[in-house]
Amino acid sequence: MDLYEYQAKDLFAAHGVPVGPGQRVVTDAGAASTAAAEFGVPVVIKAQVKTGGRGKAGGVKLATDAGDALGKAESILGLDIKGHTVRRVLVTPASTIAEEYYFSFLLDRANRTFLAMASAEGGMEIEQLAVERPEALARIPIDANEGVDLAKAKEIAAIFPTDVQDAAAEVIVKLWETFVSEDATLVEVNPLVRDGDGNIVALDGKVTLDENAAFRHPGHADLVDAEAEDPLEAAAKAKDLNYVKLDGQVGIIGNGAGLVMSTLDVVAYAGAEHDIRPANFLDIGGGASAQVMADGLEIILSDPDVKSVFVNVFGGITACDAVANGIVQAFGLLGNVTKPVVVRLDGNNAAEGRRILDDAALPGLQRLDTMDSAARSAAELAFKGA
Ligand code: GDP
Ligand code: MN
Repeated sequence: MDLYEYQAKDLFAAHGVPVGPGQRVVTDAGAASTAAAEFGVPVVIKAQVKTGGRGKAGGVKLATDAGDALGKAESILGLDIKGHTVRRVLVTPASTIAEEYYFSFLLDRANRTFLAMASAEGGMEIEQLAVERPEALARIPIDANEGVDLAKAKEIAAIFPTDVQDAAAEVIVKLWETFVSEDATLVEVNPLVRDGDGNIVALDGKVTLDENAAFRHPGHADLVDAEAEDPLEAAAKAKDLNYVKLDGQVGIIGNGAGLVMSTLDVVAYAGAEHDIRPANFLDIGGGASAQVMADGLEIILSDPDVKSVFVNVFGGITACDAVANGIVQAFGLLGNVTKPVVVRLDGNNAAEGRRILDDAALPGLQRLDTMDSAARSAAELAFKGA
């Protein structure tokens, strides 16, 4: 889960990372003006959207007083930044900036380690810096067992000017504490600044939390922005389903993440000619009970983009006859299924499962023996229905 800047800064502050003298999040320009008046100093008004490059897109503006804040907030609220509509702005006392640095901790999946990245040249897009001047960006692997103590932090901070290295190292230790204790996969600060008083301050924050660790952090649930969440993904989450919305037309249900991933590939291949693609990822896991099948079908069928559904199950511990019964009961639970559903059952007790489906003769359900033929049929049905 990606956090908004203001949420990231709240976490930073809770772990002792300096973030400046206060912030307020508001949804209308009047409230931004009030906040500016209360801060009583020049403020920065910042679009709260989960994407970078807000500064360049006109989403970060300095306001000298309450009146100025009103106009600046009005111009930022409602902006479209890379497809994200600005519904909230952050109002915060403006810092004076002497220098801008870049800093991040992240999970480096390719190298199976954690990584610190730091540069004395913050502010600009770090991807560009990494390509154009890789030597200006330090990349320091972090041993997960050893973590980041002050000595390690000083090693990382060595890329910064000498006179800020000690102060920066202390902030880096606190950012590591944030990273570890919140179960983050990314903590990024760009810019990390040296302000006019010589203090090191995090002026921006980007944090990604590992949702697999949510059970350890009951408080993280409060960080979810229900308004911005995809309604189908929210409904699936409420039913404990492993669902990801995609942009195609063929609804996908399978058991096991690996099988579902390959089903996405096979459907994309089968539909390539007519630009037909998978509409979602949905892994119903090993159990595949009637209720889970019904829940999954219900979510997928309620997606207006879905024109056909492909149920691809390989029977293992849960045998195909149980899955077939689940599908039959799911159709009963759902009542009126109007979109075509293609089912491929294979594996443990496939013959019995297939017989159950054939005997049930469910309306709109087509049963095929192989994954390829079923994918082709589902793609074709989606093309005809689109
Ligand atoms: P981003 O463009 O989405 O990464 O948004 P940032 O929060 O990084 O802000 C963009 C730029 O606005 C920063 O690089 C700073 O140069 C500037 N900025 C942000 N906050 C302040 C502030 O408090 N004072 C000053 N003077 N500039 C700021
Ligand atoms: Mn930034």
